[in-house]
Amino acid sequence: MTGMTSSARPLLNRRLAAFGTTIFAEMSALAVATGSINLGQGFPDTDGPEEIREAAVRALRDGRGNQYPPGPGVPELRTAIAAHQLRRYDLSYDPDTEVLVTAGATEAIAAALLALVEPGDEVVALEPYYDSYAASIAMAGGTRVPVTLRPQEDGFRLDLDELRAAVTDRTRLLLVNTPHNPTGTVLTRAELAAVAELAVERDLLVVTDEVYEHLVFDGAEHLPLAAFPGMRERTVGIGSAGKTFSFTGWKVGWVTGAPALVAAVRSAKQFLTYVASGPFQYAVAEALRLPDSYFADFRADMRAKRDLLAGGLERAGFKVFRPAGTYFITTDIRPLGEKDGFAFCRALPERCGVVAIPNAVFYDHREQGAPFVRFAFCKRTEVLEEAAARLRTLAG
Ligand SMILES: *Cc1c(COP(=O)(O)O)cnc(C)c1O
Repeated sequence: MTGMTSSARPLLNRRLAAFGTTIFAEMSALAVATGSINLGQGFPDTDGPEEIREAAVRALRDGRGNQYPPGPGVPELRTAIAAHQLRRYDLSYDPDTEVLVTAGATEAIAAALLALVEPGDEVVALEPYYDSYAASIAMAGGTRVPVTLRPQEDGFRLDLDELRAAVTDRTRLLLVNTPHNPTGTVLTRAELAAVAELAVERDLLVVTDEVYEHLVFDGAEHLPLAAFPGMRERTVGIGSAGKTFSFTGWKVGWVTGAPALVAAVRSAKQFLTYVASGPFQYAVAEALRLPDSYFADFRADMRAKRDLLAGGLERAGFKVFRPAGTYFITTDIRPLGEKDGFAFCRALPERCGVVAIPNAVFYDHREQGAPFVRFAFCKRTEVLEEAAARLRTLAG
């Protein structure tokens, strides 16, 4: 196969042709081939709470969710999502009209964009961005307008003037991710207030990817944009069980928002998967009701892992942007005498048996991301210790 039919028309349509296969496939294959520690893709190497695994087994055995669940999600889960938003953020949502369960946050993002974007609409997204955003905007026929987070001493920050300048008469929607993958930035109350003011002033819709809402460290606070003045009726909030409960394979995500927004997203979602993850929905309903101690312990555990890997990277000679949220560390490789993250990441498995991801893949302006490399720290302590020891050999 050459990717061409006999009529010489490319098989893959124009909207997707630019995307190729993800870097994660290439890097994970390299990890296997070289026996490297894979700190590339962001999934935990241990499962979440045993009682939640058992809840899924029970649902499966009791015949709950083995057949198509209701389109909007099982009532138990929608009620638990609404209760979680109320308890955490004082945001009140009606489980019947303002909550929608999706096949992970990935489907929620795709469905929101497919539902709300007309071909030609501009979508402003923070750059670097999660890799599904660009493809989802493209599938919706939208035009991506990246606003670059700039590296400062205290991490990658949003330039509010650049954000304002990126909004035009064609802008339909802001796509905001906080806590932010891959930089670990958590937008502050003042930054979010400015984003909200802009959205209200320019009458924009906002989609917020909050899958790392529970992974914030050192007193940083996750604040949903929907809670800011004038935002509830224009914001589609997106959450996921994958990262919070360490069950990334279950693919249970959700959307919260005003009835008209949720109905619009459901219109697209019903023709993507219709429904997904039946028995897991019941288990996630229980997970969302875990006591505060679960979330506090999870955060403390991840903070310790962050500090372990960050220390190892610093001793190896990287400049480390210590993340305030997520389970990723972005580094600058220039202190190691390197400047091309792609070349560095392709060579790293051979050099020391560790796999990482070049941040350039998350940029339209690839040169802006060239010297940055991302490491995931959602791994067992002994794995991170071994990775740190291997990386140490780079320091010579
Ligand atoms: C992992 C991740 C997702 C995908 O979440 P799923 O629930 O697994 O689909 C979405 N956004 C960001 C920023 C992520 O890191």
